[in-house]
Amino acid sequence: MKIHEYQAKQLMAAHGIPVPLGKVAVSVEAAVAAVRPLVEQSGNPVVVVKSQIHAGGRGKGTFKEHPDLRGVNVVTAGLQGGVEATEAAVADLAERMLGSTLVTIQTGPSGKRVNRLYVEQGVNIDRELYLAVLLDRALARNIVMASTEGGMDIEKVAEETPDKILRAEVDPAVGLATFQANGLGWGLGLEGPAHTEFVLFVKTLTAMATQLDTDLIEINPLVVTKEATVIALDGKMGFDDNALYRHPDIANMRDETEEDPAELEAKETGLSYIKLNGTIGCMVNGAGLAMSTMDIIKHFGGEPANFLDVGGGANAEQVAAAIRIITADPNVKGIFVNIFGGIMRCDTIAAGIISGVKEVGLPVPMVVRLEGTNVELGKQMLDESGLNLVTATDMKEGAQKIVELTR
Ligand code: GDP
Ligand code: MN
Repeated sequence: MKIHEYQAKQLMAAHGIPVPLGKVAVSVEAAVAAVRPLVEQSGNPVVVVKSQIHAGGRGKGTFKEHPDLRGVNVVTAGLQGGVEATEAAVADLAERMLGSTLVTIQTGPSGKRVNRLYVEQGVNIDRELYLAVLLDRALARNIVMASTEGGMDIEKVAEETPDKILRAEVDPAVGLATFQANGLGWGLGLEGPAHTEFVLFVKTLTAMATQLDTDLIEINPLVVTKEATVIALDGKMGFDDNALYRHPDIANMRDETEEDPAELEAKETGLSYIKLNGTIGCMVNGAGLAMSTMDIIKHFGGEPANFLDVGGGANAEQVAAAIRIITADPNVKGIFVNIFGGIMRCDTIAAGIISGVKEVGLPVPMVVRLEGTNVELGKQMLDESGLNLVTATDMKEGAQKIVELTR
């Protein structure tokens, strides 16, 4: 699960990590009202208005409705005009940003609607660094990545100048050791008070990552200010879904408007669904069978449109939801249902398919392969349903048939 920048910063602040002062706003009035207290508390006449969407690249992104407007805007009007000028500029920005669609390299061409803004104090930037804590599944540990090339596209840095990325492994038993934190700080060219602050920053951040079960914390840029303090100017945070039950407060930060509606419906009905880019929708029970179904589709020259596991004990409603989710994907040209009825009975699956198809229709060909408990009854129900389905006796035949039908 991902959260917004403002939420990530709230969590960081609660763990004692320095972040700029800021206030989230969902209306123009709220954005304007945030200005005066921020300017007074920070003593900095500059504020920044930032779009809150679950995607990066906002600083360089532009709005569909306002091609000249960026996703992150530094407001300097207050340097000359005082706080009233800042308020007027923020009003104008908020008016145009809220409800508009921001397109960045990470949103794809359709962009994302901006429903919230974060109004933040300005920071006097001396250097922009990159810092991330990410879960390395191969090592089964968090690793810290740091670079002097902050504020830039880190994938590009990794590709073109990989030596500019420093790494350290976090031992889960002891956390990031002081010598490791020192080494990262020196590698970033930090000295004196900024080095000391960085060491505390990165140690606190890695401890927080472990405590909150994050799979990613990315701070780009991590800023060294002209006052030689170290502060998180941006914050991206993702969590291991399997550990969310341990963090109900974080689970509550979920913003459903940012999530793929199909994945959301799948989650609510208890299905494991992951959208892919192919054309053959798959409905399978069991993760292992789902994997091998995807393999065999590829083997015969097709591309799966999704991974979908209806689980070992799915009911007819879940099967119907699965059909709804698969057919909602405009890329889907055919559906392959591949079920081994062990715990799950084939007649239950058949009933689900019949009611699902009656509900949403069947705009594309469907191949059904059933095997296992009550298979004869299941097949009979499908035959008598009058639905336009193709049946297959085994997995190989089913995969071949669906690939042919979607050609
Ligand atoms: P992203 O583009 O989605 O990663 O958004 P960021 O939060 O990283 O903001 C983009 C850029 O805006 C940063 O790299 C900074 O250069 C700039 N920026 C953000 N806040 C401030 C600020 O307080 N002062 C100044 N001068 N620039 C800022
Ligand atoms: Mn950033």
